[in-house]
Amino acid sequence: MLNIDLNTELSKISRLNGEQKTALKKLKLFNIRDLLNYFPERYLDDRENRNIQNIKKGDNVILFGELKNLKIKRSFKGHIPMCEGQLVDLTGNIKLVWFHQAYIAKMYNDGEFVKVSGIVQEKNNSFSILNPVIDRVSKDHIFFENSLFDNGIKDKDFIPIYKETKGISSLFLFSLIKKCILEYKILDKIKDEDMIEKNILNKLFLPSLDKAYLYIHLPKDKKQILVARKRFSFQEIFLIQIIKQLEKEKAKHNLSYKINSDELNNFIKHIEKRNGFSLTKAQRKVINEISNDLNKKEPMGRLLEGDVGSGKTLVAEIISFLTTHYDNRNKEENKRLQVAIMAPTEILATQHFESFSKTFINENIEIGLLTSKSCKKFPSKQDKNKATNISKNELIKNIGNGNISIIIGTHSLIQKSVSFNNLALVIVDEQHRFGVKQRKELANKKSLNIKTLVANDIKNKTNKKQKIIEEKFKLPHLLSMTATPIPRTLALTIFGDLDLSIIDEMPKERKPIITNIAKEKEREDIYREIISEIKKGYQAYIIVPRIDELDEEELQNSKKLNLRSVKSEIKNIEKFLEKEGEKNIKVYGLSGKIKKEEKEIIMERFLKNEIQILIATSVIEVGVNVRNASRMIIEAGERFGLAQLHQLRGRIGRGERESICYIFSNANSENTKERLNALIKAKNGFSLAEYDLEQRGIGVLGEGKQWGVSDLAMEAIKNIKLVEIAKEEAKKIIEKDNNLIQNIKLKKIIEEKEKIHFE
Ligand code: ADP
Ligand code: MG
Repeated sequence: MLNIDLNTELSKISRLNGEQKTALKKLKLFNIRDLLNYFPERYLDDRENRNIQNIKKGDNVILFGELKNLKIKRSFKGHIPMCEGQLVDLTGNIKLVWFHQAYIAKMYNDGEFVKVSGIVQEKNNSFSILNPVIDRVSKDHIFFENSLFDNGIKDKDFIPIYKETKGISSLFLFSLIKKCILEYKILDKIKDEDMIEKNILNKLFLPSLDKAYLYIHLPKDKKQILVARKRFSFQEIFLIQIIKQLEKEKAKHNLSYKINSDELNNFIKHIEKRNGFSLTKAQRKVINEISNDLNKKEPMGRLLEGDVGSGKTLVAEIISFLTTHYDNRNKEENKRLQVAIMAPTEILATQHFESFSKTFINENIEIGLLTSKSCKKFPSKQDKNKATNISKNELIKNIGNGNISIIIGTHSLIQKSVSFNNLALVIVDEQHRFGVKQRKELANKKSLNIKTLVANDIKNKTNKKQKIIEEKFKLPHLLSMTATPIPRTLALTIFGDLDLSIIDEMPKERKPIITNIAKEKEREDIYREIISEIKKGYQAYIIVPRIDELDEEELQNSKKLNLRSVKSEIKNIEKFLEKEGEKNIKVYGLSGKIKKEEKEIIMERFLKNEIQILIATSVIEVGVNVRNASRMIIEAGERFGLAQLHQLRGRIGRGERESICYIFSNANSENTKERLNALIKAKNGFSLAEYDLEQRGIGVLGEGKQWGVSDLAMEAIKNIKLVEIAKEEAKKIIEKDNNLIQNIKLKKIIEEKEKIHFE
């Protein structure tokens, strides 16, 4: 007898033909472990459906049975080659027809056992399936009452369905898995691999690893499927938390610049006086949290979440001031410490540069703007109220020698040619727009003076050695900022290595945006109201759903649903303007498809009020501050998550003008009304994100891929307790054992997963 374990290759336990081998490779299934981790997509829990006796017209069925009366025919006056036959099971028979596939009759023989799937048609009171997918199966599958679950598993209502590919059927995979579990007793060998302690599992009523595998592949009832899925989704979240805690622990051992905050309150007072408004309580709170972190020796890792318009830029400005304050200068070089601020687009970077320049007027701190298109410096030598263009080389030189203290830019900041002198703080704005890699790259930028110190050290062998080695490891503090309202569970998971600061309050002077659930019959009146607003000098957005997000069927129905696209809406609005005799209003569209540069040009023109109505999908720039925009129409509001609607409408109401957001909706159910009412009452995006998650489930968050977790793990995101326990337990483990010496099983799985090695 073969010595079978989890690493045994599948070809050793089953005779595979070439096609099957290719298919398994495609599914990345090489050994038994891979196979066990290939979870069913769904379960056929409606056994009735598999009996020919019980099928109905229109059913999408999978049937098992014996082939009879196969023959080649020609239909429609002999033009179309076809094959016909019958499928017979214990309860009845059904006609099978394959047009243009006469070869089926040559490939199969009467009396063979097969699985067919397709949609049931009805004609002249008899059922048939057109062009069904057909597969050979062993006789077992037909009479599985006796054979399939004979190891104590009596309930037969749950047949797992695995994702298939050409050459491999779900049934084949199932029989292979069954063989491993029932015949080779493979789950006995996985018992010792459980990386989650019993007490944690008990706390959450989760099954052990071996049980979970049994339940997910050979469930007795629905409950078993659910607990197994819960266990595996918890497991993924738990492992993510372990990895995040390890990263956090590792970061603690790096050194950073200790930033003194004695001058903070003076500067805040100074800014408040000049701006003519006070910081909100929430802004003060997060500034304190951040400055406390900056005052420590280890690098900060913090995420600042705040709704659009909650004033994150001002927070960034104040802590940038703190960092670059002369008292915090690098004493050896006698240079101010540096701050780098990265924004996802040219316009945003430019807006930040302008805002920072205003705030830092007369502060004697130099600010640089670095993007692929333009390089600037503030203040200019001639006029200390103005910025000046400088060459890229000049700018990079001045960043390197430490003359420029605050550097604002796009991705350009990451390029190799840019080196800093004393980089002490990195701020990433709209951080979700960057990949993890890009964020890390900026956060790990080496500072030039440190490099030279190390080089000198090797040359001169000075006795400063000890000190220099310490300097070598200095890393900047990191502040990530985002306006994406995501529920706390998701934030805890994907940003598990960062501490969270939340601005949960808007500036007081801000007039709340009036949100209006609009009726179709009011449409023309609304258009007229917006036109009159535009004639007073203001601007408007129209947001339409993304057509590329619709599924096949919705796309077909989109005409019927009257779904508006960027293209169709430009036409509609232009037609309306013409009808009203308005010639001076410019309408432009921003669809997801147009190029980034073109998008920026249009945004720029909108910012300058050269365009009055901007029609866009939900992908338009989040951070751009168009204070002059005071109206918004959102079409098909039911298609957006509440948090998303909230974020969209946050683009208006940024200036003094009272702003109105009109939301049209194609659905009129109570549920939709209730949701839109929640939107009218909502105070901030985070509470809406929670509400959305509760009401509509994880679907509103989109695919797990987008957040770097699997769809299965997303199921855990719904459960705050699960996520909190995962984080707490991971923290406990890493605090005690940061090299995972006492947690060998965990160590092994994380080494495999992350390709990292422990000392
Ligand atoms: P976001 O958080 O979306 O980045 P911004 O930083 O762009 O928001 O701020 C939006 C506007 O609010 C800016 O014009 C800014 O000057 C203003 N602002 C910021 N803080 C306050 C405050 N405490 N009181 C009044 N207005 C403020
Ligand atoms: Mg912003």
